[in-house]
Amino acid sequence: MIDIWCNGKEIVIQCCSCQRVRNDAGEWQDVKEIRQGEKTLFSHSVCPMCLVDLYPELVSAINLTL
Ligand SMILES: [Zn+2]
Repeated sequence: MIDIWCNGKEIVIQCCSCQRVRNDAGEWQDVKEIRQGEKTLFSHSVCPMCLVDLYPELVSAINLTL
């Protein structure tokens, strides 16, 4: 488990499509379930579930196993 810190701020990876966030265990959960504070920074990505929906050709092209 790796915690990412940037100048004392915690970085949370959020899916830009469904708004779920990735927790420390690498699982994607609803944004309301995580603790948010003044020090939380959001970085946006796409979760595996949305990746399949949004970019199916990309998933098949790289033979991604989810
Ligand atoms: Zn998503």
